[in-house]
Amino acid sequence: MTQRQIDVRNVPQGFARLQFCRALVSRVAAACLGAFALAWPASAADLFAFPVACEIGKTCFVQNYVDHDAGPGVRDYMCGTLTYDGHDGTDIRLPTIAAQRQGVDVLAAADGEVLRRRDDMPDVPLRAAPPGSLEGRDCGNGVVVRHADGWETQYCHMAQRSVRVKPGEQVKAGQPLGRVGISGKADFPHLHLTVRRHGKVVDPFAVAPREGACGSGTSLWAPHLRAALAYRQRTLLNAGFAAGPVTMEAIESGEAGAAPPTADARALVAFVRAIGLKGGDVQRLVVTAPDGQKLVDHTAEPLDRDKAQFMLFAGTKRPAAGFAPGAYTAAYTVVQGGTAVLEESFAVTVTAGAR
Ligand SMILES: [Zn+2]
Repeated sequence: MTQRQIDVRNVPQGFARLQFCRALVSRVAAACLGAFALAWPASAADLFAFPVACEIGKTCFVQNYVDHDAGPGVRDYMCGTLTYDGHDGTDIRLPTIAAQRQGVDVLAAADGEVLRRRDDMPDVPLRAAPPGSLEGRDCGNGVVVRHADGWETQYCHMAQRSVRVKPGEQVKAGQPLGRVGISGKADFPHLHLTVRRHGKVVDPFAVAPREGACGSGTSLWAPHLRAALAYRQRTLLNAGFAAGPVTMEAIESGEAGAAPPTADARALVAFVRAIGLKGGDVQRLVVTAPDGQKLVDHTAEPLDRDKAQFMLFAGTKRPAAGFAPGAYTAAYTVVQGGTAVLEESFAVTVTAGAR
């Protein structure tokens, strides 16, 4: 990122504002977005690498974007609601704690110099952290990297003792900094990435958006990432089959779906966990047996409000003769206002049981 490629207008005003922004907590930081115009005609080489070693949409998912609403409301860069009040970064989520424990690298988004790091906080979800233990340490274990021309990236919620860079160290784009964790104020395993320029929060999906123009602004992501990073309101995070009722904990631990049901399983249950569902969404799960017969057809109540994440399962008890071996398919559909807005299917092969 070179100065030549960045057109910063109203610089004096911008700098005055950035001091203002710096002095305030994250709740107000979003108000500073767009405080000074920032064009981004950078070359592809200057743009950001993806900061997690994962396959977007398969092994990691964007859970929250930057909040562009200056007030108490929420608005992501597409004028959607995939954010929360004052959120100053992008949350890149792993599908389960099991995936996090296997180890997924956090990568530098661009060349730069490590400014700060923290590495000693435990990997526990927010709800399990002792009261007060996170005061001023919301980010958990993290790294701050300074790039050229006032750009800075901050990587949060990393795994305890996984940070492998030190202040003063030069890093290259794509270089591992440590691993994704669940330290600090985090309810699920993810990387929170904050991007700043001269201390002011920048949304890497929408640099210098035009006020009120949904989806305006320029992407900081390298061109090859953009199709995978295209905005999606609703995303299927987990799906599978189990031999009984499923809990959120069993999904996180990887236990749900780990052992497919066999012919003599006590039940055959299809489960899903989706993110970004909206109030009024109607979810339906249909399970079809190997002979084409509809085994389960469950339609859930319309959602009463937006859900950051939502788990649904439906199944049937074992028939007297057991489940017929073969391929069972599940179709998951989300309908909003009579229109299907998410359609996914998944399958399992049921094998003969032990008896
Ligand atoms: Zn976050």
